[in-house]
Amino acid sequence: MAEEQRRLVIAHYNEITLKLGNRGAFTARLLDNMRQALAPLPSGAVRSQDGRVTVVPGSADPEEICRRLAQVPGIANLSVATVCEPDMDSLLAEVERMTDGWQPAGSFRVRVRRAWKGFALESPEIGARVGAVLADRTGAPVNLGRPDEVVYVHVVRDAIYLSLGRVQGCGGLPVGTGGRALLLLSGGIDSPVAGLRMMRRGCRVDAVHFHSVPYLDRSSMRKARRLAAVLARGQSATRLHMVAFGEVQSEVVRKVPRPLRVLMYRRLMVKIACRLANQGKAAALISGESLGQVASQTMANLAVIEQAAELPLYRPLLGMDKLEITDYAREADTYDISIEPDQDCCTLFVPRHPATRAALEDVLRAEASLDVEALIDAAVEASEYEYLKSDWEQQAAGLPEAAGREPVEAGA
Ligand code: ATP
Ligand code: MG
Repeated sequence: MAEEQRRLVIAHYNEITLKLGNRGAFTARLLDNMRQALAPLPSGAVRSQDGRVTVVPGSADPEEICRRLAQVPGIANLSVATVCEPDMDSLLAEVERMTDGWQPAGSFRVRVRRAWKGFALESPEIGARVGAVLADRTGAPVNLGRPDEVVYVHVVRDAIYLSLGRVQGCGGLPVGTGGRALLLLSGGIDSPVAGLRMMRRGCRVDAVHFHSVPYLDRSSMRKARRLAAVLARGQSATRLHMVAFGEVQSEVVRKVPRPLRVLMYRRLMVKIACRLANQGKAAALISGESLGQVASQTMANLAVIEQAAELPLYRPLLGMDKLEITDYAREADTYDISIEPDQDCCTLFVPRHPATRAALEDVLRAEASLDVEALIDAAVEASEYEYLKSDWEQQAAGLPEAAGREPVEAGA
């Protein structure tokens, strides 16, 4: 076998196995999403096999394949396997070769899965023989309870796969199996994480970004595009709406008392987002709010914001603290984009001391002084959207970074 044919990336899924009736549809969706994520790489066939998905690396680096697939929702973990002939001698020869350049960091155990029941030996015997070679060659102790390293042996009809350790995937369900929702995407740390968490539950995520151009510069729009492109790694492309919010904000400044303005901005964002969601057939909104994180996110204020929504408003970060959210953002590669400085619309016309417990009646009274329908109509009418491919795809195609490009399709 040629060197590259002897390696295989194996993706394992977890939650999909619970979908008894629909497993086929879930797996088909996962395969599509995996192919999409790998499209920029010169990798080979992606196939479903015995409750796993295998990827032929082709001339791509198997480690890079794992790194990319780890961000595709639905994959629990991944391993790079060496493919052996389906007999014990070939397997043990490969185990010996493996120990040439490798020493377990402490104890080890062997896990065997015998998907092809026609194989001559039973799993415990295969494990014992592989373990004996490893122990003999490396001197490392076996620990079945809490090993430092795990060696996996997977027997299928025409091959045996041998692999060492696993790369953690993001788990959950494949995007496209859980409906479509519209994410309110600022340039901050929280909202992209909120979108990623809902993608992990199978949601296809569209996004809307509110900016204050020409009152402020375009920096927040550029960040929103780059973040939408990172989200697109796990779904084929992200639809991103851009809404100019400056006129709405100046109208609020004219008519609404200072302490209520932040909440009024949020309510108007939610109303505009509901309109765009309905047009784009999204069934819910997603925001990055987390209880108590800032003054506008007290329980009372969250209720006032939610009351403006005609659609369900999902807040997947509600019970997460900032540190957890930040760790997640780092892992998902959104953090570095989010912390770049920008001119966010929320910094425009914002009072120093927003109300922390606004009464809904006060907010509704203030809102009655605005022509809300006209403001929404104008904002939706002037909005634009585009589809952003993943940053990986953009790089492979040699496109200028998403950051610099203008919307390609106008009108919502
Ligand atoms: P983030 O880090 O996501 O900006 P935050 O902690 O800064 O969140 P806020 O600024 O109060 O919180 O925003 C709360 C939520 O409102 C955001 O998570 C996002 O979903 C939405 N939001 C805020 N500003 C915008 C914007 N300019 N465009 C779209 N959505 C926004
Ligand atoms: Mg923010």
